[in-house]
Amino acid sequence: MSRFLLEKHRNLPAYVPGDHEEGDGFIRLNTNESPFPPSPAVREAVDKEIGRLNYYNDPDCTALRQALSGLYGLSPNQVIAGNGSDELLYLAFMAFADGTHPIALPDITYGYYDLFAASLGVPLVRKTLREDFSIDYRDYLGVGQTVLFPNPNAPTGLALPLEQIAEIVASNPENVVIVDEAYVDFGGETCLPLMKQYPNLLIVRTFSKSRSLAGARLGYAFAQRELIAALNTVRNAVNLYSVSRMAQAAGIAAIADNDYTLANCRKIIEARDYTTRMLRALGFEVLDSLGNFVFAKPRAMSAGTLAERLRERGILVRHWDRERIRDYLRITIGTMQEMQALEAAIEMIFGRA
Ligand code: PMP
Repeated sequence: MSRFLLEKHRNLPAYVPGDHEEGDGFIRLNTNESPFPPSPAVREAVDKEIGRLNYYNDPDCTALRQALSGLYGLSPNQVIAGNGSDELLYLAFMAFADGTHPIALPDITYGYYDLFAASLGVPLVRKTLREDFSIDYRDYLGVGQTVLFPNPNAPTGLALPLEQIAEIVASNPENVVIVDEAYVDFGGETCLPLMKQYPNLLIVRTFSKSRSLAGARLGYAFAQRELIAALNTVRNAVNLYSVSRMAQAAGIAAIADNDYTLANCRKIIEARDYTTRMLRALGFEVLDSLGNFVFAKPRAMSAGTLAERLRERGILVRHWDRERIRDYLRITIGTMQEMQALEAAIEMIFGRA
């Protein structure tokens, strides 16, 4: 540890991402990426942009925000783009929370929130998920704190209905409610219809999942104009140019080819349904996920052992050795072919093939 590192940073937890083996023939069902490459239109757009890399990118992401606002029926000043939704979430932490302004969130959720909080000294108020892993929306009513949850939640895939989110937002009028809709395109219900009514609602989204652009690092968020302006204020002080030319071009092209995204989402939903049935038939307990992943508990062996055995067979899935969830695996939904390969591997491991 460098002696120059400030004391306050020395105990920062490390985010442990899923393994990133590439090109080794691994089937990657561990990082909730899309198994489909970006649309051909994206490739073309990025290719064109390369010749302009000598010029700085548009810090306001004007064309991209226009494309997004057009698709979702908003005005461009209700949209901000960022370097992955992670950047926008971090900016939201910076903008709305600090040592004396905590954030209320589920105890089992997306792991990076913990790191944002640790690096900014933001206390987290963790609300325990119910026994069935669902969020009890009543835990967030009138808390008078910034509220944050993914909808659907990760790694469970369970979602809150719009009416319950509306109650959370309405009951905390002096605080921002951040709904992370990273996985909403796979059958979830967006809370976009609530935005007009509530100036304290921030909806964060990403191109990483349904739009096949995880490696481009592109996220976006929707809110009323003032809240977006607040995020721009903090962003402009940190990294004005955080969304590269190539990411902007990729995003614009991906929005223009929305049919490609919709078709891929349908394929993922179909493969998710197949996987849920298949795992249940193999004796797993499987939550009804609305994400591009399932959260599943094997009964024939421990989840950790099964993850190891699958890795030996070239299939990567996610396992956390953590209280309450160590019996579960989070399995990203890939192509139908990949899910059938998973099925065959599990049958072999269970000695059923
Ligand atoms: N929110 C949730 C719930 C996630 O699972 C992820 C990525 N795994 C993100 C946000 C961040 O996505 P990105 O930074 O790639 O947009």
